[in-house]
Amino acid sequence: MSFKDLGLKDALLRAVKEKGYTTPSPIQEKAIPHILAGKDVLASAQTGTGKTAGFTLPVIQYLSETKHPKYRPIRALVLTPTRELAAQVYDNVKEYSSYLNIRSAVVFGGVKAASQIATLKRGVDVLVATPGRLLDLHNQKVVSFKRIDVFILDEADRMLDMGFVRDINKIISYMPSKRQNLLFSATFSKEIKQLAHTILKNPVMVEAEPENSTAEMVNQKVYRVNKKEKTTIITNLIKKGNWNQVLVFMRTKHGANKLTKKLLQSGISAAAIHGNKSQGARTKALSNFKSNDIRILVATDIAARGLDIPLLPHVVNYELPNVPEDYVHRIGRTGRAGASGEAISLVCSEETEYLKEIEKLLGTKLADEIIEGFEPTDNAPPKRAASQSKGAFKKSSSKKPHRKKHFQRGSKSVNSDNRNHRGSKNRRR
Ligand code: AMP
Repeated sequence: MSFKDLGLKDALLRAVKEKGYTTPSPIQEKAIPHILAGKDVLASAQTGTGKTAGFTLPVIQYLSETKHPKYRPIRALVLTPTRELAAQVYDNVKEYSSYLNIRSAVVFGGVKAASQIATLKRGVDVLVATPGRLLDLHNQKVVSFKRIDVFILDEADRMLDMGFVRDINKIISYMPSKRQNLLFSATFSKEIKQLAHTILKNPVMVEAEPENSTAEMVNQKVYRVNKKEKTTIITNLIKKGNWNQVLVFMRTKHGANKLTKKLLQSGISAAAIHGNKSQGARTKALSNFKSNDIRILVATDIAARGLDIPLLPHVVNYELPNVPEDYVHRIGRTGRAGASGEAISLVCSEETEYLKEIEKLLGTKLADEIIEGFEPTDNAPPKRAASQSKGAFKKSSSKKPHRKKHFQRGSKSVNSDNRNHRGSKNRRR
């Protein structure tokens, strides 16, 4: 299957070729024909699957083929949970539409609104936005949602985690009811299903296939450690392994700052990225990390969500997330674009329950190891845990066979359903 077979026009094929893509990813192959046919789509896909091109390409094609008033009202709106993701999606929209007469813009908080307002006033076809700033601008009557034809909710699960549900519903209430809706989410909780039910009409469901997916190439390791020794251990791993691009996850902003400071003190270039950092600092940290000017990016889950960091070789969970789905998102940062990657978790006794929850979600036990010289001494499991998982903390546990080495993406997601496919010739409503 080629991009041309999916029904994309030459101007888009040219842009795709310039990006270096040769074949569509599974989610692109599945979603693009339905989106071109004007269907509502519920897609199970996380960052790294090529989902952004999966919705951007057909939406741009549709916009380029339909008439619009001269003043260029917003006809497609992409909502994302974070500023970084909004910026990335916008970059993609710009690149894919470079040979078409499509105008796009991005708005998010944390930066001055003046230039965003000026851009919007000139008219845009595709707007990428985070909910808060978008509603501010709507309240100031700088944007109107009345002509929106396609609404895309990206990373819907994270939107809900971040408490955006009311904002989303408010934004939707200003849109015409006759529109196409696309919802992308990595996980499908009850809440997501409810949201999907209120937004989507007869959606086609598509999912990113685990086969050939780069996440399968992620080698996951758990090191049983003492909490107090985590900083020394990570410093050693980085130095001895001569690791050069490492994304480290922390649970708290404070923790992220503290570790960054320690790494800098040991002569390892690092920067923290979290919600308390200014937009400028976050953008700078990310671009320095991407360009290899700094070796380590220390991030909280929310800040790292959706970051497009290609070919990331190492992800370290300095602390396990307390939401098991976040583990899946975290390790989705590595082993991408056909490269193999390694996801290491430093797990102390306090995190035993989190690990169990993660393994339950993955449906597999993760291989665990002890680092020589850093044998855990505080790993005596609490009584209840000990009786439930006998021997789980024994030093020899790394020798235990484990069923599956690699995480399979999409294990909790919706099934693929092509029944409603009418072919790309069918025009939208
Ligand atoms: P996304 O899941 O949209 O964040 O995309 C993840 C990465 O895959 C980005 O760096 C894209 O540029 C890249 N990508 C998207 N589609 C393809 C494709 N068909 N072939 C190769 N790389 C792709």
